[in-house]
Amino acid sequence: MNKAYANRMEKVRPSAVGELLMLGAQPDIISFGGGYPAPEVFPVDKLSSVFADVMSQSGPRALQYSTPEGLLSLREKLVLRMKQSGISCDLDNLFIIQGGQQGLDLVAKMFINEGDVIVTESPTFMGALIAFNPYEPVYKTVPMDEHGMDMDALEEILRTNARVKFIYTVPEFQNPTGVTMSLERRQRLVELANQYDVMILEDSPYREIRFQGELISPIKSFDTEGRVIHLGSFSKILSPGLRLGWVVAETEIATKLCLLKMAADTQNSTLNMYLADKFMEKYNMDEHIQSIRVLYKEKKETMIEAVRQYLPSTVSYTNPEGGLFTWLTFPQHVDATTLMRDRLLPEAKVAYVPGSTFFPVDEEVNHCRMNYSGASKENIIKGVAALGTILKEYC
Ligand code: PMP
Repeated sequence: MNKAYANRMEKVRPSAVGELLMLGAQPDIISFGGGYPAPEVFPVDKLSSVFADVMSQSGPRALQYSTPEGLLSLREKLVLRMKQSGISCDLDNLFIIQGGQQGLDLVAKMFINEGDVIVTESPTFMGALIAFNPYEPVYKTVPMDEHGMDMDALEEILRTNARVKFIYTVPEFQNPTGVTMSLERRQRLVELANQYDVMILEDSPYREIRFQGELISPIKSFDTEGRVIHLGSFSKILSPGLRLGWVVAETEIATKLCLLKMAADTQNSTLNMYLADKFMEKYNMDEHIQSIRVLYKEKKETMIEAVRQYLPSTVSYTNPEGGLFTWLTFPQHVDATTLMRDRLLPEAKVAYVPGSTFFPVDEEVNHCRMNYSGASKENIIKGVAALGTILKEYC
């Protein structure tokens, strides 16, 4: 049969790394590969009491259709939280989406024509590339250091490429590197976007999972021209299974994005929006987030300590102040995909995500992303020690 796929399906393919990740997800494997929150931070009892409240107080409404923008009282609460973080916005600017991932998809659909240039950090979040790829952009990538994107390199890209549509960034505890963009660079980023008239897509699901250091104002808070689209998510601060996130954007952009959302899925689950709304009404969200921070700090410190103790000194690592990931850099001759497939998985039953998959262009093979939120502390130590034993043969 002639399946007659649209041309864009050329760019929609399973990756070799995806198959490796499936192997790494088996139950007998110590996996640093997922991006999952620690299950022990899910407020199961609180959410079941909230569920009972929602059913008894608003059952029929919670089971009915809502609107594409989402539940009004939840949006009001988020507008307030955004204002507290320095983003001035109104109800017209904010609507609910199915997690940050839907925001990436909607923005891609709305802005990318074939051949448009999208600027990303190098490396960058794989899920963003999956969302952007079907629209056939050309990627230009900006190297990073411990303070985020190199702004001079970014300026050079903006100066020499007429078709840049937007700059995509994960400014806090970036997935995959754990790096946070400094305040100065955020300000410079907005100045450059203004100067070269391009949009910025600020993807911020980890912002509140900061367990040390100072909170830095969001990029959107420096936006005076309505060119920053900010994506937030409940996935890491409440539950990814609820599939709840939000977009903040200039009114016309928000309205158009919301029309695309309506075409995609009509609206978010009314029930789940009620649950999040009631949770924030009945309990203290900030206290809940604080308990997540405490646990992740311990887990991060366990991992960094194990990395220092067990990995060869030729392996470098990032030491994030929040979020879920650290990024390891092996000596250049060590290919992280081969190492995992041929040695680490079969011999030690340990998995990570090979770094090559996070590079839109100019793949680098000698990195891996290590998640510390999912595994127990004992398994973090055991898994990193096993990685160290194998790596010492190569380094
Ligand atoms: N952006 C980044 C940088 C992420 O790491 C993730 C999830 N791991 C997402 C967006 C999407 O998350 P969600 O759709 O669950 O909000």
